Amino acid sequence: MLIARTRQDLLAARTELHATGKPLALVPTMGALHAGHVSLIEHALGRGCTVAASIFVNPLQFENAGDLARYPRHEAADLQTLHAAGCSLAWLPDAATMYPPDDATLIDVAGPALGWEADIRPGHFRGVATVVAKLFGQLQPACAIFGEKDFQQLQVVARMVRDLALPVQVIGAPTLREPDGLAMSSRNRFLSAHERARAPQLHAALQDARRALATATPAAAALHAGRTALADAGLVTDYIALVDGPSLRPIETPQSGARLIAAARLGSVRLLDNIPA
Ligand code: AMP
Repeated sequence: MLIARTRQDLLAARTELHATGKPLALVPTMGALHAGHVSLIEHALGRGCTVAASIFVNPLQFENAGDLARYPRHEAADLQTLHAAGCSLAWLPDAATMYPPDDATLIDVAGPALGWEADIRPGHFRGVATVVAKLFGQLQPACAIFGEKDFQQLQVVARMVRDLALPVQVIGAPTLREPDGLAMSSRNRFLSAHERARAPQLHAALQDARRALATATPAAAALHAGRTALADAGLVTDYIALVDGPSLRPIETPQSGARLIAAARLGSVRLLDNIPA
């Protein structure tokens, strides 16, 4: 596995990878890798791609300095994970490489980047879109794999690529879960044992809402029940909603591509999840 830390390293590695003739797939990450990240790499390998993964804890997408400071960083273990997963290149830029002081460009997506996460984390998707556009320019991948786990992020990146006609195929991959249903996340390690026991309630609330919608319960009632169940389990709901999928607009009844999305706080951890409706 090639490891690149500078633009010069990256240029040499990119030339080497493109020379293999196989399509290059990019898996952007912020490190602290778990089986969910590995599943994205496997997804890319399964499509016959050479895989490059980036590890960059992107300061621009953190609106909270404390959250950025405590974000887990495990570079040595991550490199082993990437190597074992069959990754061909690890791209590990530092902040100055990604954001040189004379940078003058930010990317603002509207549409799917409005509401939900953006209400709680203003500026978050500007950070995501800007860093992802940079990664696309740096690596020039044929495709990029993103987890459905971060459903709004996936839609934001897909819309940016469409609107800017970027020559990258954006592919969503399913959410990997713990056996009790909790979506895997780098932040789960911050849950206390007591919180960890209650965390699967988020997925359970989404599943209950889906079951209720299937019996023609109005969306407002199904979502209200979800919010109540989360409160009973000690979770503070930021939102639980039924949306149309690509545009993230709220809808009243399930339709093709519809998604139930939710975010809730448990102690100091924000949990995010979604399922097809
Ligand atoms: P992160 O390192 O949290 O920025 O995530 C990097 C990529 O991994 C994003 O595309 C996430 O959506 C994806 N991802 C995170 N958790 C999971 C999971 N449990 N299953 C599948 N993909 C995931």
